Amino acid sequence: MKEKIQKFAELILESENIVALTGAGMSTESGIPDFRSPGTGLWERMDPSFADISTFTRNPTAFYQTMLEIGLNMIKAKPNAGHKSLTKLQKMGKLNGIMTQNIDGLHKRAHTKNVIEIHGTINEAKCMGKCGKIFPITTLVNQLLSGNPSTKCPDCDGILKPNAVFFGEQLPTEALERTDELIANCDIMMILGTSLLVSPANFLPYKALNVDAKLGIINREKTNIDHQCLVVIHGSIAEILPKIVEIVEIEYNKK
Ligand code: NAD
Repeated sequence: MKEKIQKFAELILESENIVALTGAGMSTESGIPDFRSPGTGLWERMDPSFADISTFTRNPTAFYQTMLEIGLNMIKAKPNAGHKSLTKLQKMGKLNGIMTQNIDGLHKRAHTKNVIEIHGTINEAKCMGKCGKIFPITTLVNQLLSGNPSTKCPDCDGILKPNAVFFGEQLPTEALERTDELIANCDIMMILGTSLLVSPANFLPYKALNVDAKLGIINREKTNIDHQCLVVIHGSIAEILPKIVEIVEIEYNKK
């Protein structure tokens, strides 16, 4: 493990243009369950169809009855040592930006800049009615907590939904374009806490390989990209990433 941590740090030290691709495993140590971890993943205790847009539009009340607690837990969560390590790397000029599949907003709450949220964010609510406006998530949550079974847009009375991408919805085009720009000149992609089973995020490492970037991964379980990675670490991000960043920081401070 020690050698792999050293190798990952060296990869970062040798590189100028570093990007990260993160998934739900980045935030499990902030108390937010991922989808697919054996024993703890959300799909072990609930039906994935709950994250489907047709389920939501058919019956928003049932959706909120099942999902409110999970959503509130996500909104209240705090960045962990992994998120904070990425911010540190960025401050040393060693991270250009992050493409995240996460909707929890924890990279932004950890003050990392240039974060692309390709699946949207739970920190906003979007009106599905005529006006299509975006509101802070509190507009939606306050209605639910005050006993309204469903949530209404304050402007046009349309239904409010969390501004995260549900299954069956289009991904934000602008976010996808920004991932292409970020990857275009990268020389390493750090892949952190993702099973790489969700498309199109699972194509992003291949886009990085196409521009001759190197890949390094930290994930508890094996993934289909491991054989293409220069460093593969199977373990906890909040434990391992701070150790890598510490080595980078020691070298950075010598300059
Ligand atoms: P996933 O559940 O498919 O995979 C998570 C991966 O992270 C697993 O392979 C697991 O081994 C690994 N992992 C879990 N905890 C880890 C840790 N502490 N350290 C290292 N690795 C760890 O999640 P995914 O690949 O991100 O894709 C699925 C979808 O999950 C995305 O669409 C995302 O929007 C959604 N999601 C997001 C959140 C969030 O915002 N925090 C939470 C649940 C699901």
